Amino acid sequence: MKLLLLAITTCFLSSAALADDSSKSSATDSHAVNTVCPVSGDKVGGDMGKPVYVQYQGKTIALCCKDCVKQFKKDPAKFAAKAEAEAAK
Ligand SMILES: [Zn+2]
Repeated sequence: MKLLLLAITTCFLSSAALADDSSKSSATDSHAVNTVCPVSGDKVGGDMGKPVYVQYQGKTIALCCKDCVKQFKKDPAKFAAKAEAEAAK
């Protein structure tokens, strides 16, 4: 049973890695802690196009665009807290 589970997990992980670039929009809700960009306040993955993900303290935070990544990196603690506050709503 454990072996089967491992096989399924490995299969899932490898297919997820392969699909990483093409299916980001469908993965938004399951991977990132937030759905609204903490920098701009816009909904992630909406009109702005593909979301951009950043890792902060083991969490995945979704940002609406590359410009927001620059802003995020200037003050990651602040924006990460904002994203988590939004996620907790
Ligand atoms: Zn943005």
